[in-house]
Amino acid sequence: MSLFDDLAGPAREALDRFLADPSRALVATDFDGTISPLVDDPEAAGADPRAVAGLAALAEAGAHVAIITGRPVHTAVRLGRFGEHPALKRLVVLGQYGVERWDAATGQFDLPEDPPAVREFAVKLPQLLADAGWPDLHVEDKGRAVGVHTRRASDPAAAMEAIRGPVAELAELLGLRLEPGHNILEVRARGVDKGDALRALVAENAAETVVFCGDDLGDLPAFEAVRSLRSAETGGEPGVAGFSVAVAADADHPVVEKADLVVPDVPAVADLFTALAAKVSE
Ligand SMILES: [Mg+2]
Repeated sequence: MSLFDDLAGPAREALDRFLADPSRALVATDFDGTISPLVDDPEAAGADPRAVAGLAALAEAGAHVAIITGRPVHTAVRLGRFGEHPALKRLVVLGQYGVERWDAATGQFDLPEDPPAVREFAVKLPQLLADAGWPDLHVEDKGRAVGVHTRRASDPAAAMEAIRGPVAELAELLGLRLEPGHNILEVRARGVDKGDALRALVAENAAETVVFCGDDLGDLPAFEAVRSLRSAETGGEPGVAGFSVAVAADADHPVVEKADLVVPDVPAVADLFTALAAKVSE
């Protein structure tokens, strides 16, 4: 049985189009939980070497490759060690949901200034967490976004329950966007999501096929972008073909029903990249 047997309809056509001309394809993936196994300490994360090798094989087959993450781009490039891979010379890493960028080709980072409302949120957050009874939660300040992690709390569910309302209220007050994830509440400036980031990369590369892999709620706008890109018609031409891949061990996770293909874990993403690259040379 092939990994791609579950692809049907337009997603199946996208696979065929990908294989027909990988040089007009873009493969983009989330980092944490997709090509990097989830760990308790976000600083201890690293890219799965087989997933990186699979991505490199796709790049060698001619595809454009990119990583789109909520992490600051500096952090993702450092943890993923993406500068060290000779086959990933054209890799683009977008951080903070597409606001920040790193190009492997030049080694250049492009980092816009942090929005003032996010800075104000970061200043007010410690008091808010103290008032909610959870002053010791791990806060990850990414500059353009602030993440509150409950994974390491004594009772993660109770901590999430206690802080969700107040965090949402403060975010709303400051005109910021709340992005809930697994054991994390992330607050960031509005107007940028992984869907916008993916569309921009598709346009930049004039891609005719797009594949996006992700595992969490922040990836849903990119799944949606894949769907709307392939149904869009411009000037009588068919849209950008594509399929999305959800990484989920739990069949009830919201990403499952939005994706064209579901794989259980990071090693399965590595298998998928490797199999896709192998299919190109079949
Ligand atoms: Mg993720």
